Amino acid sequence: MENLRFRALADTFNRRRVDYKMPDKKPSEYFGEMTFNHSVMREYLTDESYRKVMSAIEKGTRIDREAADQVAASMKAWSISKGATHYTHWFHPLTGSTAEKHDSFVNPDKGGKAIENFRGNELIQQEPDASSFPHGGIRNTFEARGYTAWDPTSPAFILGNTLCIPTIFVSYTGEALDYKTPLLKASYALDQAAKEVCRMFNGEVNRVYATLGWEQEYFLVDRSLFIARPDLVLTGRTLFGHASAKDQQLSDHYFGTIPDRVKEFMKEFETEAHKLGIPVKTRHNEVAPNQFECAPVYEEVNIAVDHNQLIMYLMEIAARNHNFEVLFHEKPFANINGSGKHNNWSLATDKGHNLFAPGKTPKENLRFVTFLVNVLKAVSEYEDLIRASISSAGNDHRLGGHEAPPAIISVFIGTQLTQLLDNIERSSDKSVLNDELKAGLNISVPNIPEILLDNTDRNRTSPFAFTGNKFEFRAVGSSANCAKPMISLNTILAKQLSLFKKEVEAALLVDSDFENAVYQVIKKYIIASKRIRFEGNNYSEEWVVEAEKRGLSNIKTTPGTLNTLTDKRIVALFEETKVLTERELAARRLIRLEKYTKKVQIESRVLGDMATNHIIPIAIRYQNTLIENVKGLKEILDLQTYGKVSKNELDIITNISHHISEIKRGVDKMIEQRKVANRIEDEYEQAVAYDQQVRITGEQIRRHIDKLELLVDDELWPLPKYRELLFIR
Ligand code: ADP
Ligand code: MG
Repeated sequence: MENLRFRALADTFNRRRVDYKMPDKKPSEYFGEMTFNHSVMREYLTDESYRKVMSAIEKGTRIDREAADQVAASMKAWSISKGATHYTHWFHPLTGSTAEKHDSFVNPDKGGKAIENFRGNELIQQEPDASSFPHGGIRNTFEARGYTAWDPTSPAFILGNTLCIPTIFVSYTGEALDYKTPLLKASYALDQAAKEVCRMFNGEVNRVYATLGWEQEYFLVDRSLFIARPDLVLTGRTLFGHASAKDQQLSDHYFGTIPDRVKEFMKEFETEAHKLGIPVKTRHNEVAPNQFECAPVYEEVNIAVDHNQLIMYLMEIAARNHNFEVLFHEKPFANINGSGKHNNWSLATDKGHNLFAPGKTPKENLRFVTFLVNVLKAVSEYEDLIRASISSAGNDHRLGGHEAPPAIISVFIGTQLTQLLDNIERSSDKSVLNDELKAGLNISVPNIPEILLDNTDRNRTSPFAFTGNKFEFRAVGSSANCAKPMISLNTILAKQLSLFKKEVEAALLVDSDFENAVYQVIKKYIIASKRIRFEGNNYSEEWVVEAEKRGLSNIKTTPGTLNTLTDKRIVALFEETKVLTERELAARRLIRLEKYTKKVQIESRVLGDMATNHIIPIAIRYQNTLIENVKGLKEILDLQTYGKVSKNELDIITNISHHISEIKRGVDKMIEQRKVANRIEDEYEQAVAYDQQVRITGEQIRRHIDKLELLVDDELWPLPKYRELLFIR
């Protein structure tokens, strides 16, 4: 079945494997060795400077120049001892990837020699000429300067020969041009608000921070086959391709044995990750063929975000070393599962408590219920923002498709918690909190010790599920920077918690019993946020209807989600919490609209070129062979036999003709639609035109190409097919 030309190509490539040298030590012995972490700082810094850095990390105080000079000198000494020759500020511009500009440590001195130099001011701040990073109108060319500034809360690390210093990236006028700046601000707002609420319950909390444990899904393809598909190379996904006769229908890939070649690749990037202090822990096959997942132990949100960006880079490098290409696109192949990046999210205190963790049973813990209900209230209020925080051209293809959450945001909390919240809703007496809830279900399997099912049964269809002691936000796309959803979640919760505190204080004026006051406010919130809770099947048609009745938004594609960012309510939210200004939000909306338009535009051009240059010529060539054959038959057969025999072949010929002319017509139409769209000045209207016209026409063209793929001689078909791309040997 398989096209042997492509397999031979893959095999030739696969023989040229790079040998990766595994360290001859245990992971615990090299974990974090390439990071300027706390223990390295302890060793290299004076007590005074160490104390200042720790206070910056834990309390957000500023580091003075003197300490910065000391840190810079230590970083230099440490990184040179590890072979570093260059340094760079490493940041997350709004392109969605990371950026770096390397400078050498070497500086010429007067005597014609050189010395290695790295001073505090080079550590703290740089001024990259960054006029070609997206800024959404914030930065005019005459003020093209941007500043990067050191983020001491995320440890510097060495990649190759370069010391990388995590930084924020802001404009000359101080506006954020990156993801890290608002993420740090959102974390600060959340810390302030959550701490205050914790203190209402008991005094002993100095810091509250969000934790994030991401689960990164991805596909691997043989690099040789990847290179043979211009659509994969240029857009990250296949723009056409008929379904493989076998793909995921047998569910034989999920949690299956990981192929050896893939395991070697995993070992390499995991080892590199461990050296950089990224605590990767879990690896397994995913549902679709060639789809895999990697997950670390959770960390403080800012570090987890940096680590996720970093691991995607490490995976790309390792993949190439093993003649693979890693695909982070949310939907590289139509009609099979796409890739997401579940964001497991919780709140931790400096005292080591998880604020989303129930006590022995959920009802025992008023504080737990408080935080849970505040999340429900916040998500209910800002479901449109949460939806906007995960929209992208790639994720549009995934949401609502094969085992992916729909575009409707709802929260699943499980039967037991639902029962508890329903009881609170029905009763004005806080004693319902003391009702014994049905204990976990007993599973009796002979010879197996008694197992208690999790208090929260799992609902894999929910986009946002409470899973015992954390929320799992599953609608995030696999290529996304996690900061985007994390900024929104932390901000809405910060705002909600300060509101909660005010309402409890007001209730206390009426009834001075603290638990009563909390109970009354929670009860009100449970009622107000009821619409966001959904325990049923999120993939069902009934839910779409029900969600509409509840007034929940169901916006399927990116452009429609983005106007939320400049909605008055959202601007007020971000300004009040001091996370983003109106100008910054407007810029972000513009950047994302433009990015959407460009992505669809590129896909449309690639599709048009491939249809015209690859597909149509081959279809015509094959059609000519058939025509020659029919002519030949006419020469050698009597008329009656010819009539019978030629019928089938003539059918194929007309069929091919039909698809060719539909493809040609589609491409012409798509080009015309692009011309019209390109003249639209308003960025939103332009994105809508690309979404609703150009993209749709592209899908129509695809259908005809996929039909042709089944008709044309496999020997002639110029591109690897799904059945080749999806199976690693
Ligand atoms: P799955 O969802 O695939 O069943 P797990 O339950 O093992 O996976 O957990 C998934 C992720 O949840 C892991 O990355 C883990 O680090 C993360 N996680 C666990 N506890 C927390 C927490 N308190 N905060 C954030 N993430 C967490
Ligand atoms: Mg999960």
